[in-house]
Parts: sequence; structure tokens; C-alpha cells
Amino acid sequence: MKAIVIGSGIAGIASALRLRSKGYEVDIYEGNSFPGGKIAELTLGDFRFDMGPSLFTLPNLVDELFDLFPNHRSGFRYTRLKNICNYFWEDGHRLRAHADRVQFNKNVNQEFGDGGEQVLEYLKESKQLYELTAPTFVEKSLHKASTWLSADIFKPLLSIGKFHLFNTLNETNSSRFQDPHLRQLFNRYATYNGSSPFLTPGLMQVIPHLEYNLGAYFPSNGMRSVIDSLVDLSNEVGINFHFNQKVKRIIICNGIAKGIELDKKVVRSDVVVSNSDIHFTQSALLQPKYKRPVKTKRSPSSSAYIFYWGMNRKFDQLDIHNVFFSENYQTEFEAIFNKKELSTDPTIYIHVSSKINQQDAPEGFENWFVMINAPASSQSENQDVISDIRKAIIDKIERMLNESISKNIIEEHLLTPTDIERRTGAYQGALYGPNSNTRFSAFLRYPNFTGNVKNLFHCGGSVHPGGGIPLCLNSAKIVASLIPDSYG
Ligand SMILES: Cc1cc2nc3c(=O)[nH]c(=O)nc-3n(C[C@H](O)[C@H](O)[C@H](O)COP(=O)(O)OP(=O)(O)OC[C@H]3O[C@@H](n4cnc5c(N)ncnc54)[C@H](O)[C@@H]3O)c2cc1C
Repeated sequence: MKAIVIGSGIAGIASALRLRSKGYEVDIYEGNSFPGGKIAELTLGDFRFDMGPSLFTLPNLVDELFDLFPNHRSGFRYTRLKNICNYFWEDGHRLRAHADRVQFNKNVNQEFGDGGEQVLEYLKESKQLYELTAPTFVEKSLHKASTWLSADIFKPLLSIGKFHLFNTLNETNSSRFQDPHLRQLFNRYATYNGSSPFLTPGLMQVIPHLEYNLGAYFPSNGMRSVIDSLVDLSNEVGINFHFNQKVKRIIICNGIAKGIELDKKVVRSDVVVSNSDIHFTQSALLQPKYKRPVKTKRSPSSSAYIFYWGMNRKFDQLDIHNVFFSENYQTEFEAIFNKKELSTDPTIYIHVSSKINQQDAPEGFENWFVMINAPASSQSENQDVISDIRKAIIDKIERMLNESISKNIIEEHLLTPTDIERRTGAYQGALYGPNSNTRFSAFLRYPNFTGNVKNLFHCGGSVHPGGGIPLCLNSAKIVASLIPDSYG
């Protein structure tokens, strides 16, 4: 049996590997000249940058893909971070978020003067929430009767009152922490799926569990090596990649997916898996009669502006992950999601992979990935707005580090929401597909299959269970579970 995967994002490659292990002959058709979609890399002079994701959690989901092929050795390596993030506030407060929970709690108490165990309590609750929700709501299709008829569903459903669905994340965090810095720190986890902490439900308290209880990691050779090692494995097990091949249409005969149409040819298959953003799968790849009457234009998650800066010196105050908070988080998110404009005082995230991967920058230099959250948009960016925001970012970092940086930038590249849409096919450049800004939106994402088309499946950040590497890998796992083995 033959399977076609449209797109080589992480979920596309993971789906291809899972189908290959089920005996399918698999071909991946990718519109770009390179695999990986958002997990891309950039070289500027002697600096190397990961262009997209920088935070790596649940590495076991990548290991599992190697485990599918026991005869092939995994060259994929990663290390657990000892320090998760350095946080900076305008009022001079700073915090090292140590990966060891007890040390983290100690650092919080030293900086914010609370002698208790509030952080430990909070992380314990995150763990309980995760264990209650993930096996059903993340690891299974929510659109199959079997999920709802299984005995496993009773425990989470009976505990639904504990999901904090009727509070926002900010309300949940405000009830846990007196100190506004800590509220802001834990509100930030809403951005891990591109949502606002002032809108997304308190259920998102599950996210810190991944970093502090299960661990934040960094792959040897950078985030890009996640893709490189999976592509190597795919090549070894006989998956065929076809680059510069944008799929124009999914061929459907009598309600059954039969293959794809490219610029000049048609390719037949028994199964089609689309890793394209569901908005474009629906609007561009399906004939009108097969489009499902669902809101594919559901409100997108946030996008980003990212400056990649080669710096001609080292900065001891920084670690691999660093956050410089805005003074007013609520105003910042109102700008992004209500006014759909850039905040004048954005929270700045700086990722410096050369702190670990020294080969990413020349000796004595650093590679800075400087990101601010932005509204998703397909409209071309205004150069004056970009100059203003660049200046605001530099001023803020200089003020908060009390060091000059502008003269140290010797290489520069900018990625905008429209670049992200053009490069990866993400609707409006959204980083994580639709946002989770309503009470139930995390549960109401597009299914991993199209009900009225047999043998057509969907994976990736725009469908269930959501965006971010771990959820994308889970989407591939769900897709594979819905497709029968090809053997005998
Ligand atoms: C700047 C940034 C920072 C991020 N930070 C993190 C982070 O720290 N941690 C984390 O876990 N996640 C992060 N994410 C999110 C994460 O990168 C994504 O959720 C994930 O990589 C999406 O993978 P995907 O499988 O949906 O495919 P994508 O990466 O979206 O790739 C889809 C692929 O399909 C191809 N395609 C689409 N349509 C067609 C067609 N018609 N024909 C052929 N090919 C097609 C595209 O060219 C693309 O290569 C970040 C994303 C960005 C952009």
C-alpha cells in the first residue's frame, strides 16, 4: 500500500515514519527545497541560528520514532538543561529558574521574599492536571466514538471541575501567587501555544509541568538536528522525499482520497496525510464539496518578529533562554489579540544556542535569536513599524542589562509573520495554528481526519491536539493509530 504525506514539517516526517513502520511505501511531497517547515536553520556569516523552535520538551516522543526501527541506530542526542530560563523585570528583579524544583522554589523565595513552597505546590498541581488530561485529550483522537466509549474517559470527565475551565490562566495564577512577578512568570506559559493568559483557561497550568517536572532539553547540534536526524532515519528506511513539489490538489473519487495533483502530474496513493495548515488544506487542496463546514478561520495563535543577531562579544548575564518582561502584560496581550498590533513595550525572548553549542558562533561571540510576540497577519509589514520596534527592543535590553548592545550587532536578519506564512504555509504566520483563547478551544481543534473523505488524514500544529513539537508528534501518533497496517 502506498501513502503520500503532503509537507515535511515535524508531524509530516513523524507520520511518514510511523506509516513506514506499518508497512507502507511512503512519499513526502514538500513545497520548499528543504525539510522541516518551521524547524529551519539560518547561517549568517560564521553564525548558525535555529530559526523556529528553541525549547525542546518530551524528547522521548522523538526517541520513539527511532524505536520503531530497531535495526537503525539513533544518532540523535540531547542534554537536560540545568537552568531553564533567566528572567528579567524592569524594576530590577531577576530570577534564575533552576531546573531543580526545590532550588527554583528557593531562588523564588530569595528574590520575592516568600518563605513558603508556593512554586512546589503549583508544580504539583500542574503534574496532576497533566496526568489527568494528557492520556485522553492529547494522546487520542477526540473525534472517534472509541475515545468516548473507553473506560479511561471517566476519570478525566469526573474531574472536569479541576480543569480550571471557568477561570483564565491569569485568574488561576493570581489565586496562587501574591507576587505580581510570579503571576507574570506563570502567565507566560499561555504563549507556549500562542494564546493570551488573560483569555486562555486556567487549564494551561499543565504546561510548566513539561519544563520543571519532565525537563527542558537541548539537542546536541541545535534544534535543527531533530529534523536532520529524522530525515537521515527516513532516508535509511526508504521514505522518498520530493522537494520543490507543491501539492495543488488532493484527488478524491467518490469520497475516497486517491492521491495528489502536482504542477504537471498526478500521483496515486491509498492514503493521503496532509501536514499542510488545515486552513490551506481546506481552502486550496480540497474540492468545494469535500470541505467540512467548520470554522477553518478560527482565530489564529500569535505570530512573531524575530531578529537573528550575530553579536561580537559574550554576555555573561544571559543563558540559553532569557526573558525580559514588559511592564504591563495585560496591555501587551490586548495589543496583540484585541487591537491586532505590536505592543510598544513587548516582552522580549532571547535564545542563545551558542551558550551550549559553541560552534554556533565564532570564539568569543554569540548568536542571539531575539523574538517578540506579534499578531498573526498576512499583510505586509510596515518598515517604519519595524524600525520603531527594533529600537524599542534594543533600548529595553540595554536598559535592563545596563550594557550597550547596538554596536555589537555584526550580522542581522529579520523574520516577520508574512515570512513565516510564505516559508511554512502557516495561516497568517501563526506559530501554533488556532489559538486557545476560549474555554473549550483546546478541545475543539480540527480532527485528524476528514469525516466525509475516506483515507484522508491531518497532522501538524493546526489540528488536534495542537501546535508545538510535542503536540505535533502526538498528532502523527494519532494519525498512525487511525490507519490500518499495510501488511497482509
Ligand atoms: C519562531 C517560532 C518559534 C517556535 N518556538 C517553539 C518552541 O520553542 N518549542 C516548540 O515546541 N514549538 C515551537 N514553535 C512551534 C513549532 O515550530 C511548530 O508547532 C511545529 O514545528 C509545526 O510543525 P508542523 O508539523 O505543523 O509543520 P510545519 O513546520 O508547519 O511545516 C509544514 C510543511 O508543509 C509544507 N507544505 C504546506 N503546504 C504544502 C503543499 N501544498 N505542498 C507541499 N508542501 C506543503 C510547508 O512547506 C512546510 O514545510 C515555534 C514556531 C516558530 C515559527
